[in-house]
Amino acid sequence: MSDLFNPTPEHLALRQTLRRFAETEVEAQAAAHDRDEAFNLPLFRKLGELGVLGLTVPETWGGSGMDAAAVAVVHEELSAVDPGFTLAYLAHALLFANNLAVNGNDAQRAKYLPDACSGARVGGMCMSEPGAGTDVLGMRTTAVRRGDSYVLNGTKIWITNGAVSDTELGDVFLVYARVEGAPRSKLSMFIVEKGTKGFSLGQKIKDKLGMRASSTAELVFEDCEVPVENRVGEEGDATLHMMRNLEVERMGLAAMSLGIARRCIEEMNRYASERKSFGQPLRDFGQIQRHIAESYAEYMAGRAYTYWAASQLELLRPGHRLDSDGVKLYCATMAKNVADRAIQVLGGYGYVGEYRVERLWRDAKLLEIGGGTLEAHQKNMTRELRGTDKLP
Ligand SMILES: Cc1cc2nc3c(=O)[nH]c(=O)nc-3n(C[C@H](O)[C@H](O)[C@H](O)COP(=O)(O)OP(=O)(O)OC[C@H]3O[C@@H](n4cnc5c(N)ncnc54)[C@H](O)[C@@H]3O)c2cc1C
Repeated sequence: MSDLFNPTPEHLALRQTLRRFAETEVEAQAAAHDRDEAFNLPLFRKLGELGVLGLTVPETWGGSGMDAAAVAVVHEELSAVDPGFTLAYLAHALLFANNLAVNGNDAQRAKYLPDACSGARVGGMCMSEPGAGTDVLGMRTTAVRRGDSYVLNGTKIWITNGAVSDTELGDVFLVYARVEGAPRSKLSMFIVEKGTKGFSLGQKIKDKLGMRASSTAELVFEDCEVPVENRVGEEGDATLHMMRNLEVERMGLAAMSLGIARRCIEEMNRYASERKSFGQPLRDFGQIQRHIAESYAEYMAGRAYTYWAASQLELLRPGHRLDSDGVKLYCATMAKNVADRAIQVLGGYGYVGEYRVERLWRDAKLLEIGGGTLEAHQKNMTRELRGTDKLP
């Protein structure tokens, strides 16, 4: 492999397209949408025109049929400019579209994926609950079979794209629930659309620390009746669906961390040349050199690990837990630390919005929580490594 980060000409072209789009269209709106806590739906739909809303969805269903390395490329490029907007993209492209493409049947794919790939409908995934986050199998949402329907009851929280505005629900969701009587380890998954009776927006969650350009919502299911054909896979299959999808999600979140880190290094590197103190550019001072050099080395280490792990990840096969957890564990904290150093190098200017790095620092913190907390990754990885005496 000659270029780990752009393994084929298609990956390179994808990176160039996304970088151009991010710089010309995403950058200009990022600060305002962060300040206003607003999701930019028209801009999101333009990602459909670029063919990346269904990045990993097979072409038959309107997608681009690309792989995990492409997932890393797109998330890295968008996140270097606007991580909040990128999180909304991730929830749609990976948590909804990829999840359904991998785990759904052809009738479900034909019905929902073309609109997801074009951006006509915004999707999301409902796993977390007020009482169950890391302990996801402790979820309380139930599904009771009644004739040709299931009746869902429960509340989901922190759902990205759960709302598209302060008052309006997102369009379509994959919802995890436990069918009445099923054991703890056997979850099921259902497609639930806006407009379904008993399905409502509890609240759009306001005042987040970061990722404010994505909408986060509480969603309520109250005697919500969904037809049997909306069950994805068989009853009890969804625990595997969830684990498989979380692997690619973590790859996307690790790549988002890389985008944040890269941008922060660029900003502090530039500033250290321009800003003088005691008659010298900041970059001449050893303590500033340490901030820049260590950030670069850590970023490159995380980047190499992420793209290597992406090269190993097959979207249709689970079993990449160790390294999908590993890249997110390493890169999330790396990005937060790099953003912190960037603020330090910029001094007071780093502390205000105009210089971007404070927003990236706030956004970076979410990556230590969403898609699995650091502690969850540590737990999973240590379990995966049990009995491994020698590493490859
Ligand atoms: C902005 C945002 C967007 C999100 N988007 C989505 C989404 O689209 N869909 C969705 O389903 N969810 C989403 N989430 C939810 C996210 O995945 C959860 O917040 C996360 O899994 C943690 O769950 P929790 O918040 O309930 O924390 P908890 O699980 O309550 O954890 C609290 C603390 O305890 C620690 N802890 C818990 N159990 C253990 C243990 N066994 N050992 C050691 N430490 C432990 C955790 O690591 C953490 O530090 C989002 C969250 C945020 C903030």
